[in-house]
Parts: sequence; structure tokens; C-alpha cells
Amino acid sequence: MSDYDFDLFVIGAGSGGVRASRVAASHGAKVAVAEEYRVGGTCVIRGCVPKKLLIYGAHFAEDLKDARRFGWNVPDCDFEWTTLRDNVLADVDRLEGLYKNTLDSHKVELISERATITGPHGVKLASGREISAKYILVATGAWPVIPEIEGAEHGVTSNEVFHLEECPKRIVIVGGGYIANEFAGIFHQFGSHVTIVNRSNMLLRGYDEQIRDRLLQISTMKGINFRFNAEMEKIEKNEDGTLCVRFKGGDPIACDLLLFATGRQPQVQGLGLENAGVELNGKGAIKVDEYSRTNVESIYAVGDVTDRLQLTPVAIREGHAFADTVFGDNPRTVDYHCVPSAVFSHPPLAGVGLTEAQAKNKYGTVKIYTSDFRPMKNVLAGRDERALYKMVVDATTNKVVGLHMIGPDAPEILQAAAIAVKAGLTKQEFDDTVALHPSMAEELVLLK
Ligand code: NDP
Repeated sequence: MSDYDFDLFVIGAGSGGVRASRVAASHGAKVAVAEEYRVGGTCVIRGCVPKKLLIYGAHFAEDLKDARRFGWNVPDCDFEWTTLRDNVLADVDRLEGLYKNTLDSHKVELISERATITGPHGVKLASGREISAKYILVATGAWPVIPEIEGAEHGVTSNEVFHLEECPKRIVIVGGGYIANEFAGIFHQFGSHVTIVNRSNMLLRGYDEQIRDRLLQISTMKGINFRFNAEMEKIEKNEDGTLCVRFKGGDPIACDLLLFATGRQPQVQGLGLENAGVELNGKGAIKVDEYSRTNVESIYAVGDVTDRLQLTPVAIREGHAFADTVFGDNPRTVDYHCVPSAVFSHPPLAGVGLTEAQAKNKYGTVKIYTSDFRPMKNVLAGRDERALYKMVVDATTNKVVGLHMIGPDAPEILQAAAIAVKAGLTKQEFDDTVALHPSMAEELVLLK
């Protein structure tokens, strides 16, 4: 008999926490997971999943227009936000049910309460119940950051945006990262007047410059407005419920909704980490080693609460590796080399490996191959929107060290190509593969 109530107590039933719980249980551990809100975490409840469904919904705006060029008699169509919203939220409920079933079928005890750490092996639930566990895993994710601006309480974040009563006629989105660009595309397609307000003049820091520039060009062409180097002063709410965003310099912007998309910070407040002496890093994230272990031997952390990559598949891998290491007698670390990522903007972009600038820094000389083309479908649709694929090659070894693309289905194509980049294949090996014609992806093996 164990001296503890559980072998593993997980705090947070998001992507990382659920995977860790399930795998640890399948290795024979007695597991409980505490979740104060809903099972599924950011990805399932208020992130990747509902966002992607809205992206699908938004795409119909252009598809319906383009369909006419392909011979379809499409009448003028209206968009009804509440129908899409309710269908999306119903699907989120369905997925939450599946996640709960998974925990249940693996005999993981789900405790729908907030848990606080009381010591290296102790947690206390909101109800007052005290529980002991041999290991504790913190998987509490991250939470949107709201800049300190007067009137910031009038804005919403990605937490609330899926539940809006109506689609805003005018929306201001603060930030120039993932969420800002994704929701700019979504609301623009739904017919909102969209303005992105960014503190610097750079969108999507970390992505290749040419690809970012192409997104800005296409977004501008579509009618999304940008205000760069903007310092917000305050947000005022008018009597009719509309908002006025004021800047230090520059005209105010009137809108119906203001969305903050200004990054996400690790969720550590009130967790009781200090009771066990768990250390944080300079950014307020839990400090962990390569096995996701904190400075306290019995406490681990995975996912966005640690300062690694804020991506769902990464959290899942960290959770899985943790469970295999601690309960499966199979010590494993996560390989962060060549993690592909995508922004589901309109059009989407995706990348893996080094950008041109990063590769030049690392290798000195690099070869760049690009294909700047108008996808066939866009040509017939009369849509003047070009895709851009870019390959970064180490000039000494001819290995492909980076691949970046923007255009229809870019994330779908890049996922497959990322395998080749991660495997360290050369430009010649890409060229040796016969093109699959006609496709957009064939550009990858025809780059000059
Ligand atoms: P990002 O880190 O992508 O972007 C944050 C943006 O807000 C940047 O433009 C940043 O500017 C700006 N910013 C940061 N702080 C402030 C501030 N105090 N005032 C004004 N502007 C500020 O964050 P998101 O919120 O868009 O997304 C959070 C994370 O979630 C992402 O980093 C990503 O890891 C994940 N995510 C992933 C998605 C995907 O995989 N498709 C989709 C959505 C989210 P600057 O560049 O100057 O720092």
C-alpha cells in the first residue's frame, strides 16, 4: 500500500494534464486530476478548436463569392453569428464529454474543484479536503495578459470572444501576434470593420519576414486596417455601449468591441507553489528541467505554465514524456527541434525550422529558394492573392533548415513537409521527389 492517497495528483485538465493523467494511469498509477473550470483546457474550450471552427465558418464568405466564377448561382447570402457560435459551442461540449470519458475509462478521478499546493506531497481542495500524492503535476496553462490601460475592463480577451451576443460591426484588436491575426481574419470575413492596433511595427515576431510582409499586404488588400507603433492611452465606454479607443498621438478609434490579444502569461497565482518552494523563472513561469521536473523532486510541470513553447502538441508531448518517465520506467525528454507552427490567419501561414535571418546568424551563408505564385483556384476566381513558399538551405551541407509558407492550406502542406525538414533532408532530396500535379504543394519540389 502506498503512503499517499494518490500516486499522481494533476492540477489542470487541459491538453498536457489530461495526457499525463491518462498515460500515468495506463502505467498503473492511481491518478486524480483537479479542474476548477472545464475539462479540455484552453485548446478545446477557448482556443484552437473553437477558433478553427470559426475559421472554417469565415472561409465561406470568400468561397461563396468565388463559387459564382465556378458556375454556381449563389444568391446574396447572410451570415448569422449566433448559429455558428451555438454550433461551435455545442461541439466544444461534445469534445469536453470525450475528454471526460477518456479520464473515466482510465480510472482517473476527476475532481471539479480548485486545488492548492500545501507542500511537496500535499494539496488542498476548495472544499477543504486535503489530499496527499507521491507526485504532483502542475498543468494549469496560461491566461491572457491585459495591458494596464485606463478602461481596459471594457475590452474582452480570447476567453470571452467565442460567446459574444452579436458579431461586432467594428472591432479593434490589440496585439500583432497569433490571436490578433487569426481573429482579424475571422471578423473581417464575417463583415466586421477590423483594425489591428500594435505597439510595434512588427506582426508575428518570430516568423520569417517575407511571409509576415505577405500577410500584411494581403490583409491590407482585403480591407483590414492596421495602426502600428500605437500607444494606447485609454478606453472609454459611451452611453450607447460603444467604445472609444484613445491613443497618445493619433486619432481615436470608435468601435463596438475591443479584443486584447497581447500574449498569455503562465497561470501560477494562488497555486500555493511557495508552500512547497517551487521556483519560478524571470517571466513568472515554473522553472523545470528537461524532464519537466521543478526544483522540488516530487513536483513537475508541463505545458504553458512553463516557459517553453505555448503550443498544444508540445504540452501533450511534455505530459506524455513526464508520465512515461515517472511511471513507465522509460525516461524521455521532448525534442523541441523543428517544431512546426501555423497561424490560421486569412490566408494561413506556417513555418518550421529557421527563418532566413536566424539561418544567416547560425550558418553565415544560406541559399534561399522561393516560389511566389497565384494558386490556380485564385486565378479562376479572379482573386488577386498570391501564395509564397520559401525554403532556407544551409549553403555548406545543402540541408533544408527552414521552410515557410503562406497561402491556402499552408498548415496542411507544411505538416507533411516538416517531416522532411526535421529528418535533415537536402534540397536535392526535395528535388528528387516527383511533383504531384496539379497541386500547390508541388511547388516545394520545384523550387528554383
Ligand atoms: P503573441 O505572443 O502571439 O502576440 C502578442 C502580441 O501582443 C505581440 O504583437 C506583442 O507585441 C503584443 N503585446 C504584448 N504585450 C503587450 C502590451 N503590454 N501592450 C501592447 N501590446 C502587447 O500572443 P497571442 O496573445 O496572440 O497568443 C498567445 C500565445 O498563444 C501565442 O504566443 C501562441 O503560442 C499561442 N497561440 C497559438 C496559436 C496557433 O498555434 N495557431 C493560436 C493562438 C495562440 P510585440 O511583438 O511587440 O511583443
